[in-house]
Amino acid sequence: MTPQIEPSLRAQDLDFAFGQRKVLHDVHLELYPGEVLAIVGESGSGKSTLLRLLHGDLRPSRGVVEADDGHGRRCDLAELRQQELRQLQRSRWALMTQNSRDSLRMQHSAGANIIERRLAQGERSYARLRAEAKDWLARVEIDPDRIDDTPQQFSGGMLQRLQLARVLISRPSILLLDEPTSGLDLSVQAAVLDLIRKLVQSSAMAVALVTHDLGVARLLAQRLIILQGGRVVEAGLVDQVLEDPQHPYSQLLVASVL
Ligand code: ADP
Ligand code: MG
Repeated sequence: MTPQIEPSLRAQDLDFAFGQRKVLHDVHLELYPGEVLAIVGESGSGKSTLLRLLHGDLRPSRGVVEADDGHGRRCDLAELRQQELRQLQRSRWALMTQNSRDSLRMQHSAGANIIERRLAQGERSYARLRAEAKDWLARVEIDPDRIDDTPQQFSGGMLQRLQLARVLISRPSILLLDEPTSGLDLSVQAAVLDLIRKLVQSSAMAVALVTHDLGVARLLAQRLIILQGGRVVEAGLVDQVLEDPQHPYSQLLVASVL
């Protein structure tokens, strides 16, 4: 018998609208510890919106997002007080946004960007924080001697690496990645994807990876869902979907990567 593992996140019957404009319809997904789930779809299909719902930054117009609260209890994100939600986001989750300039503080040093969450967690030893920041720079393959440089001096690939260090230092149990390599040169994309693969491989993190590129899903994820116009049109194991896509839209996508 396989043991019953509880999902880290579960979304049920999600609808979402920006004003009158409905962008997600009846979305259901589960995200388990130790897996990478890819959320695939073309631009405008609702991927980023779904990620913001999973992170609790947007509230669904219908349906629920349930998460493990870190004490073995399940909670409905919509029922948390703002402060509880922020606490959960800071201590247990990590969201890496599509545009690194949205989340990095470009005027602050790389080191200051990395240690922010450790400060929020209460770490006060300057020596320890600096050592941790250098350690994380090395892990994301940035020269630790650049700890005092500001991100303004970094290339696109380095910015994505810096974002990874910044969110992973707090050892999140859930990692949400929004198109982590879009806008990068192909060779840089491959290097950043490879780094992500290494960082998540040996961890128990539950990872949701948003991408418009089925090839990226194939490289990193075990399961995927495909969104078209805000609806899940396909869900399953990556290998199975690549082998035998059911929905005409997924068949089209699969044909374009093979
Ligand atoms: P994706 O990440 O797949 O490209 P998004 O989730 O960003 O898609 O957007 C889904 C749809 O919602 C798009 O049609 C987009 O134009 C619309 N949308 C996104 N953000 C807003 C917003 N703040 N206000 C109104 N419409 C939005
Ligand atoms: Mg997007």
